[in-house]
Amino acid sequence: MACLSSTNQQEDLWKKMWSMEVPNKIKHFLWRAAHNSHPPRSNLEHQGMDIINMCVVCNCVAEDGGHLFFNCDMVKELWARLGLPSHREQLAVIESAREVIRYVTNLKREEQLKMVIGLWSWWSERKRIREEGQRRPVHLIVKDVEVYAGEILQFLTKVHRSQIVKQQKWRKPSPEVLKLNTDASFRKESAYGGWGYIIRDNDGYTVIAGRGRLSHLLDPFQAELIACLQGIQAAIDIGIRKIIAANDVVMVKFTVEAKDWAYRCQCLESVTRLPMY
Ligand SMILES: [Zn+2]
Repeated sequence: MACLSSTNQQEDLWKKMWSMEVPNKIKHFLWRAAHNSHPPRSNLEHQGMDIINMCVVCNCVAEDGGHLFFNCDMVKELWARLGLPSHREQLAVIESAREVIRYVTNLKREEQLKMVIGLWSWWSERKRIREEGQRRPVHLIVKDVEVYAGEILQFLTKVHRSQIVKQQKWRKPSPEVLKLNTDASFRKESAYGGWGYIIRDNDGYTVIAGRGRLSHLLDPFQAELIACLQGIQAAIDIGIRKIIAANDVVMVKFTVEAKDWAYRCQCLESVTRLPMY
């Protein structure tokens, strides 16, 4: 029974981890960390590789996951500047990577985002130091983490808000037509943003959904338009023949007749001609 309960606990942990609202590349990073496929130097030494096992960042102490992510002097500064020093203290005494992830999955959304992006960024920083010998001041890494977390939070807030509105407003399409809803975000200071789409059938079930990040954006309308085009492209790619597309800015109704590029260009033209309102 103990084994069964332990297996269930593991399954719950991975369910919670994969359902965190953070980018997939970061969830993959956490998954690999929990399964010891990231090789801090002490792990490699245990596997019989004859290397110097000193921490890549400080070169003072043997490098294991606990030291690298929570006890190295530079990483302590990272967590302090991110406003997470008490979480760092608690995580520093946890020995298992899985228990670290369990702790992170229980954090509130904003702290969780900063924590996982901080861990992922710190691993990238270690790679940069090891492979290129380049070292950035901690305050620059912190700025990157905060900008990235801010963009995701803004996107999620907008998506959640629009989901509530759309739940109230959602109208059933006719049985042979699917409905595409899109949303986008835009940050004027950084020209970054995000897009997202969801295609549902007439019973409201999700057929396909997607989202992504954008850079070098000109304005919010461009982000909305890209979201719409991504949704239309996804519909074309999986062979959807009829679709109604709608978001806050544009409204278009059309029938997908062909998968060829000429038709895709025609879709693009028809969407870009739509007025803003
Ligand atoms: Zn160190």
